[in-house]
Parts: sequence; structure tokens; C-alpha cells
Amino acid sequence: MGRVECEKICSLWPCEQPEEFRNVWVVAELDEQGVSEASLQMLTPARRIADKLGESVVGVIAGPPGSSQLAVEMVERGADEVIVVEHERLSEYYPDVVGSVIVELSLKYKPSVILFAATARGREMAPYVANTLKTGITADCTDFDVDPKTRDVLLIRPPFSAIMLAYIRTPFRRPQIGTARPNVFPLPERQPGRQGRIVREEVEPPEPMARLVNRVRIPRSEVPIEKAEVIVSGGRGLGTPEGFRVLEELASLLGGVIAGSRKAVDAGWIPPERQVGQTGKSVKPILYIAVGISGSAQHMVGVREARRIVAINIDENAPIIRQADYSLIADYREVIPALIEELRRLKEERSRYLEELLGPEALRTAPQGGGS
Ligand SMILES: Cc1cc2nc3c(=O)[nH]c(=O)nc-3n(C[C@H](O)[C@H](O)[C@H](O)COP(=O)(O)OP(=O)(O)OC[C@H]3O[C@@H](n4cnc5c(N)ncnc54)[C@H](O)[C@@H]3O)c2cc1C
Repeated sequence: MGRVECEKICSLWPCEQPEEFRNVWVVAELDEQGVSEASLQMLTPARRIADKLGESVVGVIAGPPGSSQLAVEMVERGADEVIVVEHERLSEYYPDVVGSVIVELSLKYKPSVILFAATARGREMAPYVANTLKTGITADCTDFDVDPKTRDVLLIRPPFSAIMLAYIRTPFRRPQIGTARPNVFPLPERQPGRQGRIVREEVEPPEPMARLVNRVRIPRSEVPIEKAEVIVSGGRGLGTPEGFRVLEELASLLGGVIAGSRKAVDAGWIPPERQVGQTGKSVKPILYIAVGISGSAQHMVGVREARRIVAINIDENAPIIRQADYSLIADYREVIPALIEELRRLKEERSRYLEELLGPEALRTAPQGGGS
């Protein structure tokens, strides 16, 4: 692309030329375990973009003293370089504090792309960074590509009605900022011993504009759907909230959890944090059983990473039937109780077999739930 005539875009913004910007950054979100899985997943699209541009993937860690040890995992999962800022003021997460550090680093290093995981924190911080740098941002991307002619990154996402995909670009400003929701991209495989550069930067983070007064942990009795290996998901086809009780029984026999479509959430049959899809969560179970769900594009975008999809639906023309690995064209009120009965029978048979083989003690130590 030719030189950008800055005064035609906005005379108040600092003038910049896209060709001065290089490298694809992934901003690491830190949790109790280290760099969050959602941030590490962003190394997958980052690698793809960087390879197409012939640039490097750079991880950015802004955390408390000792955070530099987390850089190794980013390198082993695909970062060529990691920039680390350690500071006491980064011990607590404040969007303006971490955001300011990212802005300062960005002004110094001029990355062409910055990717954030669209978690609660990423959704808060990415717009802060974009607005401060006066550049564009595309939230909840489902894919990324590069225009070979202009070298612009194409930030791809379904627009509101999701019957098509929008290809969004930021032609005149840099960095190009995008977010993607957890589980939209797979976690890159760890390659132990992979080498990369770790750069320590001295940045003085500002005082936070707010203060954390107290932290309350919300009790969670169940595995969150984004971590579950088996999900039994219900839609409007269940007809009543009681339908979810039957699904719950099936899920528990399979060692899984329940989830739902937006219609089920809108009806108040299941809480919003269990919604799968474009405006819900993306999941990556080994088994996803969709019961009374038609399979709209907005729902299916959330199950892209599911290994096997089983659909139970009365309508053989429902879109989900074409997308599922296995389909049962039947009324769930007949199929699910029959499945539950069969699973219970198998479980009892297994218990009897174990008892005969190893004695009653074995039953107390044998794993419960799924695996039948
Ligand atoms: C901007 C936007 C964002 C959206 N985000 C999401 C999102 O994140 N997640 C999401 O799910 N949706 C989302 N939607 C809504 C989406 O377009 C669909 O309306 C929704 O997914 C449909 O839900 P459903 O499959 O439960 O209901 P329906 O489409 O009504 O399907 C019900 C299905 O149940 C079947 N059925 C009926 N009775 C039985 C029975 N007894 N046994 C078996 N099957 C039966 C029917 O054949 C039908 O296929 C979004 C929409 C928009 C516009």
C-alpha cells in the first residue's frame, strides 16, 4: 500500500505509516495457574498471521515480579519472542494499569497486530488499548487471514444475523487489534525445549484508577462448560424446563454437564453462563449431545472444536442433522429415558462384574460417573 495521507484521516492523531509496524503480539492474561489457556490459544491464529506476513509471534507478559518464568510456556507453544514487564503494581489486575503498559510497549515496538483472548479481562483491556492508540478493534473474531496485496489482516467474524461472514480490516491505522473467544482456536501443542528470545522491559505502570477492596469467590459446584469433556445440551425443542432434568440425569451418567441454546437461556430454563454459541461460550468437549437444538449458525460456531456431535431431533431436515457426526431422528422424550435406562443397566453390570472379580472393596475404589 502507498503512504497514508494522515491529515485526510484525522489531523489530531499522530501520523503513522503501516509499513513501520511489524510482528504479531499475543497479550498474556495471567491467572492462578500462569498464562491462561485462552491466551495461549491465541498463539494459534498469531502463528498463522505471522507466517503469512513473514513476521514473528511475540508474547507480552505484564505481571508481578517472577512473571518472566511464564515466558517459557509461551515460547514452547509457538512465540518467537516474549516481552516481559514485571512490577509490584501489576500484582493485581487493573485494566487501566495493564492496558497502559501494553500501550507504552506498543508505542515503542510498533506491532502490526495485537491479539487478546475475549475473556472478561480481554474484552475490557483490548478496547482500552485500541482507543488509546487510536486504532481499530474487531471483537469475537472466528478467523483471521491476510490480504496478500495490502498485507492488511482480515479480521473475520459473523455479523449480527450471522448468515454471512464479515471481513473487517484496519487499512490506515496500526496495530490491528482483534479478540477471539476462548476455545475458538485450539491450544498449540507444547514443544519442550523450543527456543525463543525473552526480553525484559522496564515500564513504570501508573497508579490504578480504582482499588480492589475485597475478593469474593463465587462457589461453583459444577465444571464450567468450556472445560467439560461431555456436554448434553438442550434447546427450545425440550418444550419445558423439566426437559433439562432428564438431560441432567443423562449428563451425570456420562460424567458430563448440561448446557443449552440461546432459546433455552431466553426461556429461563438454563443460566446464561451455560449458553453455547456466538453470544454464549465456545466449548471443546469430546462428546456434544444436542437435544432439541436446530443447529443455527450462531449455535454451531460455539461447537466448532467439539470432537463428536450427536444430534437428537424430530426433524430430519434440521440444519444440525447435516453437521452432526451421528443423528437420532426421534422425540427426545422417548430416546433420552431409553438411553438413561441402558446406561444404568451397563453401570450395574459393570459393578456386578467388578464385585465378582475383585470383591466388594473394589466398588468403593472404582471410578464413578462416565467411562461405562
Ligand atoms: C446476534 C445473534 C446471536 C445469537 N447467539 C446465539 C448463541 O450464542 N447461541 C444460540 O444457541 N443461539 C444464538 N442465537 C439464536 C439463534 O439464531 C437460534 O435462534 C437459536 O440457536 C435456536 O435455538 P434452538 O435450536 O434451541 O431452537 P429452535 O431453532 O426453535 O429449534 C428447536 C429444535 O428442536 C426440535 N424439536 C422440537 N421438539 C422436539 C422433540 N420433542 N424432540 C427432539 N427435538 C425436538 C425441532 O425440530 C427444532 O429443530 C443468536 C441469534 C442472533 C441474531
